[in-house]
Amino acid sequence: MSNSRELHVAILASPGIGHLNPVLRLGRRLTTLVNNIKVTILVVSSTMSPPTSTLLQSLGVEKEAEIEIIGLPPVDISHLITPTTQVVTQICMINREALPAVKSTIAAMNNRPDALIVDLFGTEAIPIAKEFNIPKYVFITTNAWNTTLWVYVQVLDKQVQGQYLDQEEPFEIPGCKPVRPEIVVDPMWDREDQRYFEYLRVGMELSLSDGVMINTWEELEPVSIRALRQNEVLHGILKVPVYPIGPLSRPAEPSGLKDEEVRKWLDKQQADSVLYVSFGSGGTLSAEQIIELAWGLELSNQKFIWVVRPPIDGSFDGAFFSVGETGSSNDGPRFLPPGYTSRVQERGLLLPIWGQQVEILNHKSVGGFMSHCGWNSTLETIAAGVPIIGWPLYAEQALNATMLSQELGVAICPDVLPGRTIVLRQEIAIMVRRVMGEKDGKIMREKIRMLQESGKNALSEGASSYNSMIEVVRDIELRLSES
Ligand code: UDP
Repeated sequence: MSNSRELHVAILASPGIGHLNPVLRLGRRLTTLVNNIKVTILVVSSTMSPPTSTLLQSLGVEKEAEIEIIGLPPVDISHLITPTTQVVTQICMINREALPAVKSTIAAMNNRPDALIVDLFGTEAIPIAKEFNIPKYVFITTNAWNTTLWVYVQVLDKQVQGQYLDQEEPFEIPGCKPVRPEIVVDPMWDREDQRYFEYLRVGMELSLSDGVMINTWEELEPVSIRALRQNEVLHGILKVPVYPIGPLSRPAEPSGLKDEEVRKWLDKQQADSVLYVSFGSGGTLSAEQIIELAWGLELSNQKFIWVVRPPIDGSFDGAFFSVGETGSSNDGPRFLPPGYTSRVQERGLLLPIWGQQVEILNHKSVGGFMSHCGWNSTLETIAAGVPIIGWPLYAEQALNATMLSQELGVAICPDVLPGRTIVLRQEIAIMVRRVMGEKDGKIMREKIRMLQESGKNALSEGASSYNSMIEVVRDIELRLSES
């Protein structure tokens, strides 16, 4: 699509690779589809995390052609938090503290943006767009089902007595799939905690925008998308248009894996024979669970690559603020069973802290992914056509895993949700053999390759997500012409 004058769109990225990554993809999508567009990405960060440049490096992004990336000055929230302040709360605090910098950075631009897009935790910046009198949108970096819950929680808050996790019946969301109490998002785990109030607030603030973009596509989530658009109750709460514009995920580098050891090891293996094990940018397991996982992988007798992080008891997202840091090769074995590294050396490759995930998933030898089911990881594994063992830990991952296993049939999950109780080695070994095997594995692989196609199609010219993205750009232009 082309427009007569240059359109300048600013996108605000919340702290964390899981937000920065899809925001970069959105920027790239805009510059690919629209001629005469400039995209500026403002990256919020804190003094607790590695600098923005390190995060970009770990995503393999040195520089994005046609996109200007501005790292806002890191904010310090150390005086606001206690050891029990949850990650979601901290993300919201960091975003809040960064608001003056967002405003002054936009004000100082010679070429002021024509529109502001904020990601799902950036809704408090919407009034800044109002001050500059420019259109404003929210980019939900996860899926539509999760968005239905996020929108509806303000109703559940009034209806449900006591903790959500203690309820016996699923939560009915009008026009949508019900949500079982045990799979609600982590901000709903404790209604007294600040992260719950932050979550409620964001659900309400979505309606302050001119539209909500979601990193999903019509053909993947027809029911949830229809409900957000048309259901009397749900749309009555959300009020603004919904644009499914995905799947936006990072493609593999054409040069493949930079890490020679990993590349050489994978090159030696048979097609679809290796399980990749990783729990996202922030996921951590307890010491006891790491031992069980180690044994389970060994007992499965399958080949695997495992991104190993030090254990943190009582936390599922303990690496969130150290995300992007790479480990030293000595880190891995410390907390594994004695002699483990040498016993599995023919069969398993242990990567400390971080792996080149997209390139690993796209290697022909990789045939399964044990994943925490973060939405970026989910889209990446769909794009690579690799079936999943769903191991949800925090955020909306249990919803994602449920959708992948029960609705789409491309994942298997442990009987109990990981984190609530230890998943034992025997169950792990069985799941690994199933996902890598000829029976279930083959069926799931076929199904996920159909999703892979469906996602690709949605992005192609004239298809659902392509059209949605163009609609957003037209909406920006229309609003500008009217202002
Ligand atoms: N990632 C990676 N290597 C790792 C861990 C994570 O490249 O060792 C990337 C992964 O490819 C994905 C992002 O970090 O793009 C994690 O996002 P996701 O939404 O899956 O989970 P989150 O980290 O936000 O929980």
